[in-house]
Amino acid sequence: MNVLLLGSGGREHALAWKLAQSPLLEKLYAAPGNPGIAQHAALVDIAVGDQRAVIDFCLRNSIGFVVIGPEAPLVDGLADNLRTMGIGVFGPSRAAAQLEGSKGFTKDLCKREKIPTAGYVRVQSRDGALASLEDFPLPVVIKADGLAAGKGVTVAFSREEAEEAVRGIFTVPGGSAVIEEFLEGEEASLFVLTDGTHLMPFGSAQDHKRVGDGDTGPNTGGMGAYSPAPVLTAALERQAIDEIVRPTVEALARMGSPYVGVLYAGLMLTKQGSKLIEYNARFGDPECQVLMMRLEDDLLDVMVAAAKGELAGRPAPRFADATALTVVMAAKGYPGTPETGGAIGGIAQAEATGARVFQAGTRLDDGQLVASGGRVLNVTATGASVAEAQAAAYRAVDALDFPTGFCRRDIGWREVAREHK
Ligand code: ATP
Repeated sequence: MNVLLLGSGGREHALAWKLAQSPLLEKLYAAPGNPGIAQHAALVDIAVGDQRAVIDFCLRNSIGFVVIGPEAPLVDGLADNLRTMGIGVFGPSRAAAQLEGSKGFTKDLCKREKIPTAGYVRVQSRDGALASLEDFPLPVVIKADGLAAGKGVTVAFSREEAEEAVRGIFTVPGGSAVIEEFLEGEEASLFVLTDGTHLMPFGSAQDHKRVGDGDTGPNTGGMGAYSPAPVLTAALERQAIDEIVRPTVEALARMGSPYVGVLYAGLMLTKQGSKLIEYNARFGDPECQVLMMRLEDDLLDVMVAAAKGELAGRPAPRFADATALTVVMAAKGYPGTPETGGAIGGIAQAEATGARVFQAGTRLDDGQLVASGGRVLNVTATGASVAEAQAAAYRAVDALDFPTGFCRRDIGWREVAREHK
């Protein structure tokens, strides 16, 4: 089978690495890809948002299956259009991807299905929003509706901060927002594959959103992650599947828009059990990198089974018991304006330590690998504990030669502290 992978981040490098190992694969293409992905796939110069070009390429190159990495093309309906053309695809329809694309849609679905989540109101005007703020104690959470790449959420600790967030959202006409109750607890990510009907748990992870050590500084796309997340115990995972994920998948199927793909549930583990913070309609980045390091089974096989509605009766995929941990190397300046163009060396030395270096924002300049974006490399290692995986990942980080890069030095800190107790 010829497969086209869409995307160009570290998530897609990890997917390409894993897909390339499949006995079902004839040829792997990636669009637009990056120099890391090029180790496993033939790169195609098509932007992920150019649906017509993607479909034309698939038809001309006998692509039997498309794996969509990022959320934007899903929310834009690429999976629907590929299916209409008879091309197999891993990723939800536009209607099902609203779980990520519209916070209001998801909150309303949770309310109808009695899914545990933060109490909320949806607001369509600035004055309505300012009035509704009165009903919430501090801290309060204000979210712009629609895809905002993690930048549309404010956790406000004062009335002034809350009002400023509201004004920011309603500066543009047609703005809408969700105001919600602040949930206290630890966050964890749960991944579930579904064919629209059947569920297959696909691992857990914890990520690190803030740019600085000790979870300080501005939010980022993610500075590191590890899997599994021991804090999401088997009992909590079962509860999250039974009370959150399954009712969601069943509700979408009843609405005539079954969810096919990977559903990523962002959970808050509160004193009252797990509650849904948000859904994503794709793998997380960098969570995908640690899941792929642990996955022992054929990724393409299970993705195709999900797309065909054939997950029923399949054994659960096997994941290594080991912990995988990834450290994101970013270009200085990130998450502000990153310093691009800086030379990257030492990848072979880093990988010689046993780690794997997935590439995100990289490009080749006259044969020299250089940084081309904010998050640049994901240095990923495994170990028998989080502490061991962490030590292995930083050994590899220290073997790199990337003077314009930086990373957090404490990825995994919560779990390492618990392991030391
Ligand atoms: P992401 O880029 O992480 O997908 P997003 O824009 O989709 O972000 P959310 O995941 O809903 O937004 O929120 C971002 C972060 O804000 C969460 O990871 C969490 O730390 C915090 N947060 C969101 N909602 C709540 C809540 N109700 N209570 C406490 N913290 C919250």
